[in-house]
Amino acid sequence: MGNPKAFLNLPRKEAGYRPVSERIQDFSEVEQTLNSGDRRLQASRCMDCGVPFCHWACPLGNKVPEWQDLLYKGKWKEAFYLLEQTNDFPEFTGRVCPALCEKSCVLNLSQTEAVTIRENELAIIEAAFREEYMQPRQIKRNGKSVAIAGSGPAGLTLANRLNRKGFNVTVYEKESLIGGLLRYGIPNFKLSKSIIDRRLNLMRQEGVVFCPNTQVGKDIAVETLLSEYDALCLAIGAERPRDLPVEGRQLKGVHFAMDLLAQQNNILQGITPEPDTQIRLKDKHVLVIGGGDTGSDCVGTARRQGAASVTQIEILPQPPTGSNPETPWPMYPLILKTTSSHEEGCLRRWNLSTTRFLGKEDQLEAVEVEEVSWMPGINGSRPQMKTSGKKELIRADVALLAMGFVGACTEDLSEKLGLENTRFNTIGVDKSFKTAHPKVFACGDAATGASLVVRAMATAVKLAETIDEAFKNNKL
Ligand SMILES: Cc1cc2nc3c(=O)[nH]c(=O)nc-3n(C[C@H](O)[C@H](O)[C@H](O)COP(=O)(O)OP(=O)(O)OC[C@H]3O[C@@H](n4cnc5c(N)ncnc54)[C@H](O)[C@@H]3O)c2cc1C
Ligand code: SF4
Repeated sequence: MGNPKAFLNLPRKEAGYRPVSERIQDFSEVEQTLNSGDRRLQASRCMDCGVPFCHWACPLGNKVPEWQDLLYKGKWKEAFYLLEQTNDFPEFTGRVCPALCEKSCVLNLSQTEAVTIRENELAIIEAAFREEYMQPRQIKRNGKSVAIAGSGPAGLTLANRLNRKGFNVTVYEKESLIGGLLRYGIPNFKLSKSIIDRRLNLMRQEGVVFCPNTQVGKDIAVETLLSEYDALCLAIGAERPRDLPVEGRQLKGVHFAMDLLAQQNNILQGITPEPDTQIRLKDKHVLVIGGGDTGSDCVGTARRQGAASVTQIEILPQPPTGSNPETPWPMYPLILKTTSSHEEGCLRRWNLSTTRFLGKEDQLEAVEVEEVSWMPGINGSRPQMKTSGKKELIRADVALLAMGFVGACTEDLSEKLGLENTRFNTIGVDKSFKTAHPKVFACGDAATGASLVVRAMATAVKLAETIDEAFKNNKL
């Protein structure tokens, strides 16, 4: 711990976002950076607690206090070597992680604000690329090969880990570009796609083979993969969106959120959709149904496309602001989250259930919603929703369904491989991410259900250990 009094004297300083009026004109990243002097001062605020709850809260087990100290002392390279031991892609988590660590920072217990852990992490990896000490490694091969289906953060982490352990790794991806939801879900204003490409170049140089446009189970048979590789890993995500099968669902203008987000990300990468399938939001009244992060990404996208109005509704009650006694420190607080997209202009409403889509001819014009309330669950059961009969119409030319995901699209694969699916439509795995098939493994959202980048990566780290252990025990 370099400066034992910094947390007392130095306030938290975030890099902040570009001004709203500027950033809604483009799709570039909204977050700014601090200069390296300020960044080191921020790192000095870490108290190097005896029990580092930040380390406990990070699914990857990042050794946060240790690299804060190195960063404060200006030992950027050493900080990077320590960080990359546990985190394969700090350039992704440093941009999009909700920083579970910061919510558990001991500084939250006093009037002081948490250390800027996520931003510090990002500064360390960006310095490694900028100063070019992030270089491809020479890998000693172990003679074993692994096929991975899916190239999201889970598939990429698994590929990176196994490749560096000496396995020959091939990643199959059904889409034309590699990256999963990093590429197609998360908007450019949170994560520039050049950041993914920079990492993929490095992985290619280290020997990872990527096969886009190849759906496992369709374009390449699982039998072929099982005979050609020593292991098959499914990191196929949880892509099945929750639908809203109410009257008028078929109207033009009602879309899944991912249809918009993937299309927008594609357009920014030069892939233009067929004109009749393009979702255009300019001058449209947009209603986002679902109050979570995917919905917030739709808000930011709608703003940038020039929507006339953007409203986001949520069926659950508005969470408390500041703190929530139901999720005390060091738990992740379930409190009202205001994202950079919300700041850009959007009406947010809660306790509204969608009852009907209404339109003229086949075009959406309004959405009928009903006010609801929530009764506390009895004996630990889930809260019960009560309808009020109080209905209203919200004007909407476009409605975006952002109500979460209900599992992986595994039907064919599970059947062909004899896998067991869980009741949440995820692939059944044990604690070490082994499936019912001895040569097949699964990780990421496909195994856990829709979650976070950092959690998907953490499952892949564990699976890489499982596969390496099997190899070392001659069981692969
Ligand atoms: C809009 C949106 C925004 C999000 N924002 C954030 C955020 O800011 N921060 C955060 O931490 N998390 C965020 N998340 C969640 C996060 O993106 C996911 O939890 C994470 O990407 C899951 O990683 P994964 O590798 O398991 O799956 P995915 O990223 O879904 O990748 C799975 C890949 O498998 C491919 N695939 C599927 N089937 C096959 C097959 N049969 N053969 C070959 N390939 C196949 C898919 O095309 C996809 O590319 C967001 C999610 C969404 C939808
Ligand atoms: S990966 Fe996320 S939770 Fe872990 S240290 Fe980084 S910001 Fe915190």
